[in-house]
Amino acid sequence: MGAESIAVIGAGMSGVAAALVLARRGRRVVLVEKKERIGATLRGFTRGGVYFDTGLHYVGGLHGEGPLTRYFRLLGLDRLPLEMFNEDCFDLLRFPGLGLEVPLPVGREATVRVLSSIFPGDAAFIRKYFTRISEIFNSSPLLSFRTDASELLTDMQNTVSLADYLAGGTADPVLRTVLSIHSLLYGVSPEETPLHQHARIAASYLEGVGSVRGGGRALVAELEKALSLSGVKILCGKAAEKLRVSPGRGINAVLLEDGTEIPVEGALFTGHPHLLPPLLPQGSVKPAFRKRLLSLEDTCSAYALFCKCAPTPSFLRGGNLFICPDADTASAFRPDCDPRRGPFYLSGGRDGQADLRGLVIVAPGSARECAPYGASAPGRRPAAYARLKEERLRDIRQKCLAHCPELSGMSVLDGATPLTFRDYLDAPGCGLYGTKHSLHQFNPLPLTGIANLWMAGQSVIAPGILGAIVSAIAACVFILGREAVQEELAACA
Ligand SMILES: Cc1cc2nc3c(=O)[nH]c(=O)nc-3n(C[C@H](O)[C@H](O)[C@H](O)COP(=O)(O)OP(=O)(O)OC[C@H]3O[C@@H](n4cnc5c(N)ncnc54)[C@H](O)[C@@H]3O)c2cc1C
Repeated sequence: MGAESIAVIGAGMSGVAAALVLARRGRRVVLVEKKERIGATLRGFTRGGVYFDTGLHYVGGLHGEGPLTRYFRLLGLDRLPLEMFNEDCFDLLRFPGLGLEVPLPVGREATVRVLSSIFPGDAAFIRKYFTRISEIFNSSPLLSFRTDASELLTDMQNTVSLADYLAGGTADPVLRTVLSIHSLLYGVSPEETPLHQHARIAASYLEGVGSVRGGGRALVAELEKALSLSGVKILCGKAAEKLRVSPGRGINAVLLEDGTEIPVEGALFTGHPHLLPPLLPQGSVKPAFRKRLLSLEDTCSAYALFCKCAPTPSFLRGGNLFICPDADTASAFRPDCDPRRGPFYLSGGRDGQADLRGLVIVAPGSARECAPYGASAPGRRPAAYARLKEERLRDIRQKCLAHCPELSGMSVLDGATPLTFRDYLDAPGCGLYGTKHSLHQFNPLPLTGIANLWMAGQSVIAPGILGAIVSAIAACVFILGREAVQEELAACA
């Protein structure tokens, strides 16, 4: 065992991943989580006997030596049962106003072939686009399992927006929407998203698309098993309230909300970046750093419907549906966005005896509408909020039924608003996926200015399950050194 002990604050995907890697390298790790159990974002919930996924619907990079497969192996999740999505259509895009459906198959060549047959005039650009995003994905250090710290930092700097890149290649707005549809999965508009950032997510869906059999709760169960074998000490149900900093030593203790003091020799914070500055004593970091973290904008928020669906339409059994009533989906990302206009993202739905899993409908929606009720807490919201929620969910349901009559057998068991997500995800700005990775803001890096305080999580490097793991590995490069992480990565090849 090494001498150091590190507190990892936050037990989501990134915090658990970092804790497991640090423990394997001999660090004594304490994992501190304010929620009652680890993996709150991923765990999902059950209503009326139906299980609903929250933070995991599908992932890419799950093929044989795909990056997520390798990272799952690195975390000791070799036995994670997977379910792969339909090879010929893992995402179906429906444009009701145009009478058009666009299936996205697994595989780069298959995708180029299918899209070129639908948009023949743009075949050359379609090929160029997928070649480009694959190149970016494959050359990104932690997706290609290289760990040079300087490359990690330069990899974050890129300047072309997805929208500009697409506009330079095709005049067809529908094709532009098709190529940027996965923006909905990270909640930032194509105008603001660096092409590189989009590529890190969208190109992961070119190979090995699927999920964990049993959903997010099955993933959390495996993470719990891995933690129990790792020696990581887990403290759930108490927030880290303060980090004690001394001039020469940096962070030397984590103080929990119940007054417990944990002496540490370093800390890794994985929560929403807005939540870090209040933990730090005045003067411990530069005011500009504090201000930068606090002014980061969140990704878009959403309303969601959790539905029982019998029978589940076949295309949802091994895939997702995007309904785009407007061919241009840009309005979904505006601060005044109306959740009733769509686009709508539909995922999940299994109606077998052994696997009763609900359908989740997500409609991007503005946090602003809910702002008047922001001071209320779950279970104690005012009547006006309840009316707003009911109206929005009813309208979204009707729109989805109108555009997807195959769902006529669905019943809504529960719903969520931007405020629900704020409280469930511990996201002060109601963002679904942490803070935006945008051309207009500089997201945190693993380094903080305090030598033994690091950051990881979906707001650092990239969002999603893969992004959260990559952020954890990036932080470990700075904590453990490049060679130690390189050894770990080589061992999971
Ligand atoms: C509806 C929805 C669907 C999604 N679907 C997918 C999908 O299909 N595929 C995919 O790849 N990704 C998906 N995601 C995104 C993915 O779930 C997240 O990117 C990922 O889980 C984030 O992990 P994290 O560790 O960065 O953050 P979190 O899960 O937010 O973990 C951070 C933790 O820190 C804790 N914390 C904060 N402050 C403190 C403190 N002071 N003391 C103690 N604990 C603290 C919080 O309670 C939290 O548990 C989805 C997200 C949502 C909301």
